Amino acid sequence: MDGFTFDHTGHLLHLHNEYTRKLIRRLLPGNLRECARNAWIFSNGVYTRYPFQANLYGLPSKIVDECYLGLWEARRKYGDDPLRTNHRLTFAEWSERLFGKGISEHFMFPYNRKLWTVPPDTLTPDWCGQFVPQPRLQDVLVGAVTDRSTAFGYNVSFLYPHRGGIQVLSEAFAQKIGNVRLGCSLEKLLWQEKKAVLSSGEMLPYAHLVSTIPLPELLKRLSPFPRELGEAAGQLRWTSVLCVNLGVNRRNISDKSWIYFPEDKFPFYRVGFPMNFSPQTVPDGCSSMYVEISSPPEKMPASPNSRNALLRRIREGLIACNVLKRSDTFPVVSYLPIPYAYVIYDQRRRSALETIQPWLRARANTHSIGRYGAWKYSFMEEAILDGKELAETLQKSSAAV
Ligand SMILES: Cc1cc2nc3c(=O)[nH]c(=O)nc-3n(C[C@H](O)[C@H](O)[C@H](O)COP(=O)(O)OP(=O)(O)OC[C@H]3O[C@@H](n4cnc5c(N)ncnc54)[C@H](O)[C@@H]3O)c2cc1C
Repeated sequence: MDGFTFDHTGHLLHLHNEYTRKLIRRLLPGNLRECARNAWIFSNGVYTRYPFQANLYGLPSKIVDECYLGLWEARRKYGDDPLRTNHRLTFAEWSERLFGKGISEHFMFPYNRKLWTVPPDTLTPDWCGQFVPQPRLQDVLVGAVTDRSTAFGYNVSFLYPHRGGIQVLSEAFAQKIGNVRLGCSLEKLLWQEKKAVLSSGEMLPYAHLVSTIPLPELLKRLSPFPRELGEAAGQLRWTSVLCVNLGVNRRNISDKSWIYFPEDKFPFYRVGFPMNFSPQTVPDGCSSMYVEISSPPEKMPASPNSRNALLRRIREGLIACNVLKRSDTFPVVSYLPIPYAYVIYDQRRRSALETIQPWLRARANTHSIGRYGAWKYSFMEEAILDGKELAETLQKSSAAV
């Protein structure tokens, strides 16, 4: 768009598996750039390094004290194994046991409330595993008294295409596969007859159907709708994200990869800088940003008025954290709604899936996989591996027939 390349927010390749590393290098020869993560948090008027819990250095001393003493108190209370418990913890309890009150109240609760749009005590910690770094007590202490750049977490470095944005990966996959229909969608799944009806009117018989569309969309298309799934289907909850992509008429507005914003006074929870993933995504003399705003699906700003008001708040927020100057202008503003963004891990998610997924496999020969099909928090590499694993399983079972 006018010399800028944007994605649906940041889409960076975090590869941990030898198979996907080789596959993606083969699909995008000469078009991958390796970047070191340079992620920060803006809170209390200062920038601190990501992750918050390992890098308290730079925060006002009262907050550092509350965070560190809170962690110390949690370790004293819960011992070396803070997650050992005889009841299922909520995310709020998990965070307080693992990180203590201070870190929870100054970052974990406000940030996650903003991202997931629900209170932290209604979430489970089932999604946290690899996504929330869990530094040792001594790491937190060192990070409270020194500015050090030790990288924690699953995404310390990443790959991104030099040219074309992350779409080049889907295009490279598509070139290797024949018989793809574009511009039409699944309209109805006649599961009793094992037939898929497309919006083009075409009807395709199937032996096994693999679906990666959001699970609630797949369920809506089951025809007839099985009554036994009604309650479970009603329990799936998710957030939407409005991605606001901005071109800026000034070079190098930031050297960061992305910044987290836990405070409510900023309408966005995260802002990233595609020009730092690849300089070829911006025209000379310009910078680029993606700004992420989370909301319940029915509250995503859609009208021109609400979006203009939001853009004004975004601009003020970006000036307040010194990313923008008042004189900066936006040669490009584009709004990309992501209706299904984060699957909400509440107490009902797991039991709903335990009803829905086995039913789909057994009664409809349908395998619902990927981030929104399996209804989980995951990333692109996992979606590729889910597909590979299922293809191998189906291949084996058809060879056995
Ligand atoms: C804000 C945000 C940031 C993210 N950042 C990263 C990141 O940096 N790195 C990373 O690895 N992952 C990231 N992810 C996750 C990544 O987007 C997903 O893991 C990945 O896209 C999942 O791929 P998928 O094929 O399972 O689903 P999708 O890519 O969602 O594909 C599902 C497809 O189904 C289509 N569809 C929907 N309804 C129908 C219908 N009725 N008929 C036919 N087709 C339909 C949709 O148009 C879509 O193309 C991020 C996600 C979000 C929301």
